[in-house]
Amino acid sequence: MRSFMKQYEDLQATYLYCNHCGGSMPVRERLLLILPDGELYDYRCLECGAVLGEKKTKLGAKKRMPQEQKS
Ligand SMILES: [Zn+2]
Repeated sequence: MRSFMKQYEDLQATYLYCNHCGGSMPVRERLLLILPDGELYDYRCLECGAVLGEKKTKLGAKKRMPQEQKS
């Protein structure tokens, strides 16, 4: 379990408050949904697995996929 956590700490150190664990816990970012205009992520406590937060990224630069015309 320890090495499992360390692996994610190396990747990105994000901590959020977890009610279940009673303190700031390392969380894992997980892709939840792919939306037409972005992606929805949630953050889960590495200790108990509770969802502690979510993030939505917007596709700002690319409004749409370029239309590919195959001929
Ligand atoms: Zn927790």
